Amino acid sequence: MIQFDLHVHTFFSLCGIHTVMELIHHAHSLGMKGFAVTDHGLTLGGRLNSPFFERFKSPVKDVNVLKGVECNVLDENGTIDKPKLLMPFIDIVLLGIHPNSTSGKTVENYTDMLIRAIEKNPCVDIITHPNDPVYPVDYESLAQAAKKAGVAIELNNSKILYNRSSIESTTALVEACKRAGCLMAVNSDTHAIHELGLDDSVRPILQSVGFKEEMIVNRTEKSALEFVDSRVERKR
Ligand SMILES: [Zn+2]
Ligand SMILES: [Zn+2]
Repeated sequence: MIQFDLHVHTFFSLCGIHTVMELIHHAHSLGMKGFAVTDHGLTLGGRLNSPFFERFKSPVKDVNVLKGVECNVLDENGTIDKPKLLMPFIDIVLLGIHPNSTSGKTVENYTDMLIRAIEKNPCVDIITHPNDPVYPVDYESLAQAAKKAGVAIELNNSKILYNRSSIESTTALVEACKRAGCLMAVNSDTHAIHELGLDDSVRPILQSVGFKEEMIVNRTEKSALEFVDSRVERKR
């Protein structure tokens, strides 16, 4: 179980099916310490609900809710769809390649997209699911760029749970992160409520590689909040 899940969607993403309140109550019932709401950047459809960012305070004191976004890389220059007007309220920025990007490009193209996006956008904290086989990435180069920028690479439980990435490729990703000495985040990428806090599909991969727990930014609530706090100035 992930104590502090840094990648969770509500129904404001077109692919999510729950309200923030449903997720909070479920997190509470699981004994989780908190999670980040990270709905998609607006080029993927859906909404970002401005009252959530500007007014919302978690009503359940034992569950800490962070405000985030999962941005999309838009081109090879590293442009991302960060929501400029909401940035003053945002705690954490995730970044990934999604179906609004062209498929069928080369490994070099997708790797360059992500590395340029990291370099051009200091607000980015976590690169999500680089093990998506539709958008293949050179893990060594990405892990080195992430290490340099203090960005964490995500180990995404849903990609393994639903067989959307292979164990072999995901193991290679974790090995590259270990070699580069870069941080990782273990996240559920929840769209349906039963996925919240799950990490049991990826735990065996971490163990087989011998990835150090202390390099996982959200290993505890304290470490998750320290990671977020250490980078919040980059959003402003
Ligand atoms: Zn994603
Ligand atoms: Zn996501």
